Amino acid sequence: MKSVRVRFAPSPTGPLHIGGVRTALYNYLYAKKHKGAFVLRVEDTDQNRFVPGAEDYISQTLAWLGITPDESPEKGGAFGPYRQSARKAEYLAHAKRLIDNKKAYLAFDTPEELEALRKEAEEVGERFVYNWQNRESLKNSISLSERDVADLLKNNSPYVVRFASYSKGSDKTLSMTDSVRGDVAVDASLIDDKILVKQDGMPTYHLANVVDDHLMEISHVIRGEEWLPSMALHVLLYHAFGWSPPTFAHVPLILKPTGKGKLSKRDGDKFGFPVFPLRWDDQTPGFRESGYLPDALVNYLALLGWNPGGERELYSTQELITLFSLENINKGGGRFDPERCKWFNQQYVQQADSAIIEHALKGFLREKGIEKTTVDTYRVVALVQDRLTLLPDVWDEADFFFVAPSNYDEKAVRKQWKDETPTILAAVKTLITTAPNMEAETLSELIKGWAAENEVRLGMVMAPLRIALVGALRGPDVFAICSVLGKENCIKRLDAAIATV
Ligand code: GLU
Repeated sequence: MKSVRVRFAPSPTGPLHIGGVRTALYNYLYAKKHKGAFVLRVEDTDQNRFVPGAEDYISQTLAWLGITPDESPEKGGAFGPYRQSARKAEYLAHAKRLIDNKKAYLAFDTPEELEALRKEAEEVGERFVYNWQNRESLKNSISLSERDVADLLKNNSPYVVRFASYSKGSDKTLSMTDSVRGDVAVDASLIDDKILVKQDGMPTYHLANVVDDHLMEISHVIRGEEWLPSMALHVLLYHAFGWSPPTFAHVPLILKPTGKGKLSKRDGDKFGFPVFPLRWDDQTPGFRESGYLPDALVNYLALLGWNPGGERELYSTQELITLFSLENINKGGGRFDPERCKWFNQQYVQQADSAIIEHALKGFLREKGIEKTTVDTYRVVALVQDRLTLLPDVWDEADFFFVAPSNYDEKAVRKQWKDETPTILAAVKTLITTAPNMEAETLSELIKGWAAENEVRLGMVMAPLRIALVGALRGPDVFAICSVLGKENCIKRLDAAIATV
């Protein structure tokens, strides 16, 4: 069997949409499963749509998610260059080959002439299609004499190169197979003579894409469903060159949370969830900035449109690689469910190496200008990690360890702060001051023992103690909080609460 070589072929026209990320992921999983190569090819022939920074964004996204290409513009490889803008000569040589074999031709029709024909057709309720039915009566190197063509070229008349997609007498029915959709049949005689080379001498997507997939020995084309209508044209191009087409797999769209229509940036803005992997412009945070872990996003996206069967949901990337198959890609679109995506992240964050969470926490400390702290961030993480869904939650859960309360939750105070509370907290303060160590267990025993001895209801101690240390009734076990805060912090906070509440 031919070795597996797949490619992700984005056009650098803006930030990578989450659908594009999933396409890259499926290519990656398929390549790794078959010990093949995952190629990143940048399709940048359309200079009008080129956006600076977009290619860099794509590379950074793939790096963040661990979807690492084996060959790419940055990395190089045996089939380079990997930017289409550096391969122009190749496309033009291939266009010439088709022209020489009468599979393509030069078309001199002006935009005005074509527009007039379009209008004419419309007036009688038809659609103008430039193809085998009329190409012989239009202004091109098939209808004109060699001399006329030579004259036009001499006069620098602008022209495009068109593909003679179908010709009289050929098989009308083009039967193809898509690994996701199954058998697909198309009437080839309905296809128009697509432009292969534009007036400015640049190749179109169709020509460059097919030539590159062949020259780069791509075995499987795994791409978004929006390209399904181009499959027939591409297969005809392969035939025209005398090449055998790769295997195609068209991946269904990612749908809006409502299930209707394609997921767009506007959906994200409207409902407050990211649709881009990384921050793009200055305003919109991506999944990374919103606190998603790359492995969680990979897991979620893998299952959004593909299913290994069964109920299981959590898979490591290695497991995804082992299980992945094109046949199990769903035919219908995958509904993007922000809550489910968050759920995946929650599972990953809570299981993550605590160093990752600590790193995020330290980032917040820097951001808040807290340079020195006596509180051990590692111990804080151990206490709050199982309360997190997104990485920034670490700050919401742990802020009070680093910032003493400056005010106290009114509702909690009203309910829990009694006349005798200051006296009780003063006793607690003494217990903490004289405690032999600051282990949570020691403190728990001391404080609970004192309450029992003095017939003070435990709630009368614990709730005010928590309010004094945290400022509200939240956070992990209160003795664990005392322990991590340390003696000095506890005493300071008790004093402040006794004095101010
Ligand atoms: N450059 C095309 C895109 O951005 C590639 C489509 C394909 O994979 O063939 O969608």
